Formats: sequence, structure tokens, C-alpha cells
Amino acid sequence: MDQSKVRRLVLDPAEPFAFSQASLQDYADCARRFQLRYVQRLSWPAAQAEPVQENEQHLRRGARFHRLAQQALLGVPLEPLAQIAAADPDPALAAWWEHFTRLLPALEAGERRVELGLSAPLGRHRLSAVYDLVQVFPAEGRAVIWDWKTSLARPRRAWLEGRLQTLVYPYLLVQAGSWLNGGQPFAPEQIEMVYWFTGFPDKPERFTCSAAAYRKAGRSLMALVREIEALGPDGFEKTPEEKTCRFCVYRSLCERGAGAGPLAEQEDEGEAESGEIEIDFDQIGEIRY
Ligand code: SF4
Repeated sequence: MDQSKVRRLVLDPAEPFAFSQASLQDYADCARRFQLRYVQRLSWPAAQAEPVQENEQHLRRGARFHRLAQQALLGVPLEPLAQIAAADPDPALAAWWEHFTRLLPALEAGERRVELGLSAPLGRHRLSAVYDLVQVFPAEGRAVIWDWKTSLARPRRAWLEGRLQTLVYPYLLVQAGSWLNGGQPFAPEQIEMVYWFTGFPDKPERFTCSAAAYRKAGRSLMALVREIEALGPDGFEKTPEEKTCRFCVYRSLCERGAGAGPLAEQEDEGEAESGEIEIDFDQIGEIRY
């Protein structure tokens, strides 16, 4: 049999794996999902949330917003971008854009790194991320990580606090961001992470970091990776938390129900927008190690 056509069931011991907050989150949510999505690389034609059409519209709107925000931060004049937002068939985009333009003055200070890709070793693997925006204040050796969230429901602080993204992004900026700070790693206390919500522009959620949290993050990430490495083909078990399956495309495959959960209750942004299910390094202008 042609071995290249056999789907793997465990991590390849000969190949480093490119971990991201999204893949680690999938593992934390459900080991089976991690295996299906990242090890077996199995696409499954099911909606993540319902109504299906609204969910697709929501994902596309989120992607268009991210593009507009990126262009504005890269210096494209705001007037044509405003026209694009106003002409969008989805009226919510114009409202999101208006909210974002009110935030823009706060983003003008310091140095802006837009869609910044960073990568650092994680054991024998790599940990990578693409940041919506990192705002660096060189004189203070300080950095603010911004992440745009377009979910319809505003996620709770406790939920965000428990997400791997909140742990990975500051950790990786310390690990791989010294070139942004005159050659010195940022001190964890000098990093702030802000989730900004397109639908709730006046209620951003801010997280600060600390040396203790940074050390704990490193230990937690390595523990997760070692756990994944140690799993055999049958070790990637389905989550016992069946409510997790409501927003998972593999529901029917796992016999965990046919209908998707309601879009209005989904706290994360869905697959198309998490952006890191598979990082295409050719698409990233600036990956630093
Ligand atoms: S449907 Fe449930 S058990 Fe299956 S992969 Fe998704 S989250 Fe895991």
C-alpha cells in the first residue's frame, strides 16, 4: 500500500508540528477533534452553527472586517475603506466599521505591527501565531496585543481568560518578540492583551501578564504538548462534555447529534475566522523566530 496515502492517527515522530492557539484550544476542548482536524486533516462538510446561511454570512462578514481593519492600519486612506464598508451588502459591516474608526485614534500611538507572524520553538515543535495588531511603545519597552472579535455574543471575561489564545499570545510575544524591543525580550509585565469586539466597541476586555503567569504558561504549554505526543492512535478520546459538540463540524461523524448549535450563542468566532487552523507561512509577510 502507498503509505503516503494512509492518514496518520498520531503526531509524526519525525516531523515537528506547528502548534497554534487554535490547534491547542481544539485539543483542550476535545482530543478527538484535534486528531481529526490536525493529525488526520479530515474536512467534514457540516455547519458549525445554525442557521447555516446566517453562519456563513457571519463568517464572511468577519473576514471582510478583518481585511478592512488590516488595510486601515497599514495606512490605506479611510475614505475609500468607508465607501467599501457602506456599500457592503451586509449592513452590519458598516456599523462595525464605524465602531472601528472610533477606536483608530487610540491605535495611532507607538509602532504598529499589523498581521504580525511570530514563531518560537515548543519542545521539538513550533508555536506560531498571527496577531491582528501589536502596538509597540519602544521608549517604555511596552507592547499591547490587539485582537478583533466579531462574534455576535460578547464572550464572558472568564471564558476569554481560560482560552489558550490569552495564554499563547503574550507568551509567544515574550519568546519571539525581542527584535521588536531593541533586542531585549519584553518583560511579561510590559505586555497587555486587549480583545476588542466589533459589536460591543465600548466594552473591550483587557488582560495583563506577569512573570509568574508567563512561567506557568510555558509549563502548561509543554505539558499539553507532551500529553499529545504520548497519545496512541486510540488515545484521542471524544470529549465527555457533549455541549462542546454543538459547535463542532464533526458532530455527525462522532454521532453526537446532527443539528448545529445556535449562532447567537456561539462565543468564539467560528472556523473561518480564528485564522490559525492552518497557518500558511507563505502568506505571512513577517515571521520572526
Ligand atoms: S463532535 Fe464532539 S466528540 Fe466529536 S470531535 Fe467534535 S467535539 Fe469532539
